[in-house]
Amino acid sequence: TPPFDVNRIKQDFPILQERVNGRPLIWLDNAATTQKPKQVIDRISYFYQHENSNIHRAAHALAAKATDAYETARSKVQHFLNARSPNEIIFVRGATEGINLVAKSWGEQHLQAGDEIILSHLEHHANIVPWQQLALRKGLKLRIIPVDEDGQLILSEYTKLLNSKTKLVSFTQVSNALGTITPAKQITELAHQAGAKVLVDGAQSVSHLRADVQDLDADWFVFSGHKIFGPTGIGVVYGKEELLNQAQPWQGGGNMIVDVTFEHSQFHPAPGRFEAGTGNIADAVGLGAALDYVSKIGIDLINQYEHTLLLYGTKLLKEVPGLRLIGTAAEKASVLSFVLEGFKTEEVGAALNKEGIAVRSGHHCAQPILRRFGVESTVRPSLAFYNTCSDIDTLVATLHRLQSRHRH
Ligand code: PMP
Repeated sequence: TPPFDVNRIKQDFPILQERVNGRPLIWLDNAATTQKPKQVIDRISYFYQHENSNIHRAAHALAAKATDAYETARSKVQHFLNARSPNEIIFVRGATEGINLVAKSWGEQHLQAGDEIILSHLEHHANIVPWQQLALRKGLKLRIIPVDEDGQLILSEYTKLLNSKTKLVSFTQVSNALGTITPAKQITELAHQAGAKVLVDGAQSVSHLRADVQDLDADWFVFSGHKIFGPTGIGVVYGKEELLNQAQPWQGGGNMIVDVTFEHSQFHPAPGRFEAGTGNIADAVGLGAALDYVSKIGIDLINQYEHTLLLYGTKLLKEVPGLRLIGTAAEKASVLSFVLEGFKTEEVGAALNKEGIAVRSGHHCAQPILRRFGVESTVRPSLAFYNTCSDIDTLVATLHRLQSRHRH
């Protein structure tokens, strides 16, 4: 039995009451994006009805309310990540923009021809392409930590890649394509011993594992609000304060300056120096509400419950004839990636959709890791705390029916 009342939690998510193709919606596409509880929807609506203003700039009452709401959201993120200071929390559009921010500020300013960046074979395109672009421009070398047959990073190979030229190790804490949980703390420690900085992509981990940036000790940690029951268009870069202040801004404009003349501009310290222009104020506030919601259930209970669901789903999927699970690491979160013999992944996706079940089928913006396993595409159910064993039963029953129709 779940450690919290899943049916009551489901009631908080209006969209989970929808019907799709005449069936109750079963949302198993949480790795792509999560659904929003009414607490988040209501908070955004309240902001626009009662608090809306631009922030920081005016002396009127609503400016103070909006600024307060925005800065309160920042401190909610700080506490959620266990950062030392709210100055270490920068609001951006999402994980993608967060990684680009680090590449285009710190990376652009501190890396030189011949320097090396280590990525892992598990990375989402968002943690490959910005570094590739930087590498091309500056003559850097990208080196890749390989994975074993289960989809776990091979640490003994990683240690061989580290050397005095390594300036950055950038990797995901949870693979969006396979669900692998990487040994993030160990990878970070080894990188630091080699004198390299570390960026951890937390896009797939924050909604499943307790985030503690001080314990992890990464130099940057990024995530997207929409993958943790918050709005789209808002995300976070955590960075160690000193490092953030050592980097020059990557975008210039209003808000981020202390003083501007035609000859010279002086920038605020972090977080201001990285928040040029009017940001996504309302959705930052919505993200704060989402983090409150998650904390109220309790991330450790969520983790424990989802682990049970994942084991249950893994066991049942393995019994489907012709199903090959991809990603079988001992440490996994949320994701069940597979291919079904005799079917294209989009056919499986369409068959599930007919039953009201939403899963992603495709390359999941992580082509290198799928190709490592000899496929271009998988079917990917992914779990959240509002899913149940019954959701998995419906999924698996549909797959069995599909297979038996195929065989007869
Ligand atoms: N990294 C990982 C591991 C992801 O799963 C995703 C989203 N699929 C991203 C980065 C990019 O996030 P966003 O598209 O929200 O910027």
